[in-house]
Amino acid sequence: MEKVLNRFLNYVSFDTQSDSKTGLTPSTPGQATFARKLSEELKAIGLSEVEVDNNGYVMATLPANTTQEHPVVGFIAHMDTSPDFSGKNVHPRVVRSYTGEEITLNETENILLKPSEFPELLNYKGQDLVVTDGTTLLGADDKAGIAEIVTAMEHLSNNPKIKHGKIRICFTPDEEIGQGADCFDVARFGADFAYTMDGGEIGELEFENFNAATATITFNGRNVHPGYAYRKMKNAMRIATSFIAMLPRHETPEHSKDYEGFYHLTAINGDVEKTELNYIIRDFKRDRFEDRKKEMVHLVNKTNAEFGEGTASIEMKDQYYNMREKIEPVMHIVELAQKAMQACDVPCKIVPIRGGTDGSRLSYMGLPTPNIFTGGHNFHGRFEFVPVQSMQKAVEVIVKICENTLNLPNG
Ligand SMILES: [Zn+2]
Repeated sequence: MEKVLNRFLNYVSFDTQSDSKTGLTPSTPGQATFARKLSEELKAIGLSEVEVDNNGYVMATLPANTTQEHPVVGFIAHMDTSPDFSGKNVHPRVVRSYTGEEITLNETENILLKPSEFPELLNYKGQDLVVTDGTTLLGADDKAGIAEIVTAMEHLSNNPKIKHGKIRICFTPDEEIGQGADCFDVARFGADFAYTMDGGEIGELEFENFNAATATITFNGRNVHPGYAYRKMKNAMRIATSFIAMLPRHETPEHSKDYEGFYHLTAINGDVEKTELNYIIRDFKRDRFEDRKKEMVHLVNKTNAEFGEGTASIEMKDQYYNMREKIEPVMHIVELAQKAMQACDVPCKIVPIRGGTDGSRLSYMGLPTPNIFTGGHNFHGRFEFVPVQSMQKAVEVIVKICENTLNLPNG
């Protein structure tokens, strides 16, 4: 257990925050530094075909130690941390044998991690928790995933008695800014299927996520001196608010959960002459997702019928789709993960992701990729923590999946 912990503590010392504004891949130099460090470590533990490509993707192979025919399984985690919160000078602390009390993260600033606010803490009484010093995020998202994959590969490489097929691993940059799959070379990776180690609490297994699109609606008004505006002025802002009011009031993120979708107004910018609304559209079911987009177009047409042709226009762009469509034909890879968790005494919780993952993009790029827990909680902020025991279980689950992949039919 100390192995995965020490690795994790080492990894979080690298500042790998991504930044959507640089236009580079990787978006920040810290990720390239971390990629080089990881590639050296992978060589040192005996992996082959270790390479860092020009975009900072780290790939490596643990060769098969059997001649038995088998599919190739892959494991993927991301190197960057969220731009939402500082990931520089992370000072992790290990709380040994957690008692269930409040944890003082930072005495000077009086920052406490409290079970009254985060009741899930109580699930980990007696375990060892890695926490922050209250001034940064921790980076368990997703350095816990990387530490788990590397530790599992090391374990397999040191224990040749455990038979396994060829295993591919990849560490990607810029997942947090939605670009982790952009330059992922699926052909070069060469796996039949893969898992991202990027989920939350122990036991999580995910193979469903939102279908997602963005919509920008532009309203053109006509500005006239307000004193002479009678029957002449068209106020783009007021037309925009009437559009907002036509959408179902309760189909918003704050009113929906589980498998419910929504329209989410993310920004309004405008004046009398011109107003722009930015929306994101989300739904699990593809037909309901398409209906939501049609409804938007329908309301734009209604607006034009009322205020004159050319008043409103819409631009929509699909972002990603529910991976379920691509996973259903290969459900045995979900069952493989479920069985591995069972074998490791980890109760499996299948939950839909109310967002996207790199795995959803990869699944549509030809690499079916469900998502497995890392063990972490409260990602993207100062209250992030990860139980060491959960990380160790993730290592065991990876090892088990590698072992059991041998029993799957090839191809
Ligand atoms: Zn993540």
